[in-house]
Amino acid sequence: MSDPACELAAATRDLDAAALALADRGARAGVLEAMAAALDEDRAEIIATTAKETALYPAELEPEFDRMTGTLRMFGALVREGSWVRAAIDTPIAAGGKSIGPNHDIRRMLIPLGPVAVFGASNFPLAYGVCGGDTASALGAGCPVIVKEHPAHPRTGRLLKLIVHRAMARVLAGSVEGLDVSAHLPLRYVEDSGESHAVGTALAESPEVAAIGFTGSRAGGAALERIAQERARGGRGPIPVFAEMGSANRVVVCRNALRRRGPEIAAELANSILARHGQQCTKPGIIAMDHDPEAGPAFVAELARLLDSAPPRRLLSQRITSEYLLGCGRLMGITGLSRATSRPGPLIHAGDVTLALPMLFAAMDPVRGNLDYLQMFAEGGAALTEEIFGPAALVFAVDGWQNLLYTDPSLVTSVYGDEDDLATVQSDGGLLGGEVELALGLRHAVRSTGRLVFNSVPTGVRVCTSMVHGGPFPATNRPDTTAVGPLAIERWCRPVCFQNCPDALLPPELQDANPLGVWRIVNGLPGRDPIRRER
Ligand code: NAP
Repeated sequence: MSDPACELAAATRDLDAAALALADRGARAGVLEAMAAALDEDRAEIIATTAKETALYPAELEPEFDRMTGTLRMFGALVREGSWVRAAIDTPIAAGGKSIGPNHDIRRMLIPLGPVAVFGASNFPLAYGVCGGDTASALGAGCPVIVKEHPAHPRTGRLLKLIVHRAMARVLAGSVEGLDVSAHLPLRYVEDSGESHAVGTALAESPEVAAIGFTGSRAGGAALERIAQERARGGRGPIPVFAEMGSANRVVVCRNALRRRGPEIAAELANSILARHGQQCTKPGIIAMDHDPEAGPAFVAELARLLDSAPPRRLLSQRITSEYLLGCGRLMGITGLSRATSRPGPLIHAGDVTLALPMLFAAMDPVRGNLDYLQMFAEGGAALTEEIFGPAALVFAVDGWQNLLYTDPSLVTSVYGDEDDLATVQSDGGLLGGEVELALGLRHAVRSTGRLVFNSVPTGVRVCTSMVHGGPFPATNRPDTTAVGPLAIERWCRPVCFQNCPDALLPPELQDANPLGVWRIVNGLPGRDPIRRER
């Protein structure tokens, strides 16, 4: 078993020196790009190691690998471009104008918070692992990173660390005068035997750590938040925790879509539930369809048939397997819910291996009115609306599916609707406008989800500028941001303001000449021009 104190002492040593290596934005971008290139070179070995260790298929890891390297390159390009620091300048107002308060020269930009502890998740060992989105965005912001090893894939973690350490040492050699950067690399890795949460707890408590990025279970995220609060009470200062957790993603199927393309939608949802055997934070969790005595049962039967025809598969870890059994057991105990799939239970044993079977639970017979349905949610409480990590889902037939949108918030909400299903919303001026019932349901969905999807499954995340991968609790503890896309970099920063600062002492982004040519807001207007002042 690893000694948390020793592990931590090594990982947090000389982090100030490591931060120096990231001070220059060109060096930071170079680090991110070199990491991506080095990973590309060892792609085959990484995918083989990860597949062997996690039971994820190479075909699942290939696109995840591209997402990992693509994200590193995206943050590299963002850092080089520079506008993400949100530089803003208000020069003194000329004679005749009126300033609100004293008429000083005020300049603001984002600066790095300091070392970030990164806790990745078991289900995306690459995209949320050692070189995943949290690491890429934190390094891009200029923060050294300390990654805690995930006990479900230590070999993958150590291999990734080795590869990127070599690349970092190469690209940073000689970058800081008088400092052997290879001995102070800005990415640290803490090994963890996984027998307790001791290493993670000690890391979160470390006075060296300035922020935490976590992707994982609701219990893990809550525990780290508690530690951050206790730090505050213990005098080590509060630190932000950005926890991306799990939620039961909601899918609604409107009447006309159900009637016209029920089997097609069932096939899409089955594929989505079965991808990675349901071990995705974006998996469909609760499906509500409009009550239709013919199309409804046919839809459920088709979805159940497709799930029944999928082979059993090993889940990512023993803990996840036990939780899957518990979660399905909770649903089996709820009055009014029945099994739509044919298998009696969620697990089977093949020799000494335990395999998980897909499960679909349904509230169909008799078709319940809104009152019963809402009462069922009230009575079933958390058991109904908590994420079940694995290939299980719930389906309801309801009058007025929009009521589903009043259940717990989720990371993603999908709506399958044809034009005539959604016409009421459109005629009402869009999702943020009107007051009709349908629009109200969808407006609530906008407020209670990170991503509202029309006519496609919630799984599959595009990494791009406008993506939001986040949302209100329980999807995350921080609904004000996203873990995917360029905005994620701002989690590791804070704004700082310079008042009447001599030009030569300002960071280049705020200097009059704008030597880096970044976009900035000068006296309320966006632009890249230098500031010419009458002296
Ligand atoms: P997990 O068991 O919470 O583990 C995540 C990491 O946190 C591990 O390194 C774990 O290591 C550590 N940890 C867990 N509990 C801790 C505690 N009490 N104190 C300190 N450290 C703790 O989660 P997982 O099984 O890897 O991931 C599956 C979950 O992640 C699912 O719920 C899924 O929905 C969610 N997920 C969310 C997203 C998203 O973007 N929203 C993406 C992927 C996955 P130790 O157990 O060794 O301490």
